[in-house]
Amino acid sequence: ALIVKHRMKKSGRWARAEAIVNDFEEKCATPIGKLRQVADAMMVEMHAGLASEGGSKLKMLISYVDSLPKGDEKGLFYALDLGGTNFRVIRVQLGGKERGVINQEAEEVSIPPHLMVGSSFVCAALELFDFIASEVARFVTSESEEYQLPAGRQRELGFTFSFPVRQTSLASGTLIKWTKGFSIEETVNTYYPIRSHLFIEVTVGEDVVSELTKAIERQGLDLRVAALVNDTVGTLAGGRYYDNDVVAAVILGTGTNAAYVERAHAIPKWHGLLPKSGEMVINMEWGNFRSSHLPLTEYDLSLDTESLNPGEQIFEKLISGMYLGEILRRVLLSLAEEASFFGDTVPPKLMVPFILRTPHMSSMHLDTSSDLRVVASKLKDILGISNTSFKTRKMIVKLCDIIAKRGARLSAAGIFGILKKQGRDVLATEKQRTVVALDGGLFEHYTTFRKILESTLAEMLGKEAASSVIIKHANDGSGIGAALIAAAHSQYLELDSS
Ligand code: BGC
Ligand code: MG
Repeated sequence: ALIVKHRMKKSGRWARAEAIVNDFEEKCATPIGKLRQVADAMMVEMHAGLASEGGSKLKMLISYVDSLPKGDEKGLFYALDLGGTNFRVIRVQLGGKERGVINQEAEEVSIPPHLMVGSSFVCAALELFDFIASEVARFVTSESEEYQLPAGRQRELGFTFSFPVRQTSLASGTLIKWTKGFSIEETVNTYYPIRSHLFIEVTVGEDVVSELTKAIERQGLDLRVAALVNDTVGTLAGGRYYDNDVVAAVILGTGTNAAYVERAHAIPKWHGLLPKSGEMVINMEWGNFRSSHLPLTEYDLSLDTESLNPGEQIFEKLISGMYLGEILRRVLLSLAEEASFFGDTVPPKLMVPFILRTPHMSSMHLDTSSDLRVVASKLKDILGISNTSFKTRKMIVKLCDIIAKRGARLSAAGIFGILKKQGRDVLATEKQRTVVALDGGLFEHYTTFRKILESTLAEMLGKEAASSVIIKHANDGSGIGAALIAAAHSQYLELDSS
């Protein structure tokens, strides 16, 4: 009798687990009709954000980039790409139309931990920018003979900064808010908390470029920060340099965002002169998009509430690499608690926020072994869970699929919204070609995610239009893109063309 009772209990558990998963799947559903509503809502918000400052959750930030690289840029340019725990300095020698990029060097530098946990604003800002500037100075001195700038010329640098910045010119701006940040025990993951501290303390409300410039001057280095660009804007420029038909760029990484080329007269909030090109690159900050059409579940709502930026970056929290693994953890935790999914007790590590990272999820999702041994080993290594049944592991792969599918399909809807805004969702002429530059770890490494994104976009566009739209991986375009923008807006441009 005891055994029977036990068995019944076990089968009850599985039924409960299945019910939870099915309910989750239903709430995550993104049928094509819903995706069209999301794309349309995105377009409505784009219009509102362009109409007035604060007109929408979509900030639609003016980048002051009104001319993108053409491919004929010449000379030596630098870029600085500031990420979380590290940054990259880049040097590129451009040889004009014929020769293109003659040489490109990059160096990655990690920021010493003691600089990133400073508690006093002034001290942390000063030390951090001093460190960055000293590394830039070191990199500059390694310039070889063939690189030397013509006499009397100042070096120019493009600065890529992957956070929302309200710009007042191409080379000045203040951080609006930090994104992608959260605070957890340092022993679990030191990357993200550091990232948030870094930017909360260093840059909110400060002019990012003037801080950097002062530090560069303290190094006695003759170098002008010529452009401050978001990583999406850099990626757009990097893509355009090689391909004239690149009209938008999307980052799918730790965070997510998009930039695209808008007609300047379609930006009511722009009161400046109409640029010669008639165009302006807009940094959408689409991570902050929100709409009643988004398929939000109880897990997303609690993730948001418990995040350091509740109510913000809702689109990002459904899509980007920082959150996908965490959503999975939350569903697994509720399975453990409500359906004894991993046995009689809840595995303690499963209770640790952000312990399950998206790369772990991706490798479980991509597990092609017949016994799902990658899933088994991740569960053991990351969560300390062993002896799972095949059925359990299969269920986990299914959860990965539900979460990744929702994120990828929503990203596709976002891209479709941009193309629709640009009138490129339909084929106007035979020759029309539309290229979207994509970058970021999620896009690059999470193969299933990328494939779903591409097929969903094709589905939304329909056969004819889909044949003219190309998704192109712009590898590390954000760094070189900033150097290219510095080149395209160089103070010596007129001198060179005369
Ligand atoms: C930031 C954007 C950035 C994106 C991708 C988001 O969290 O708000 O400025 O472009 O991440 O790095
Ligand atoms: Mg980056």
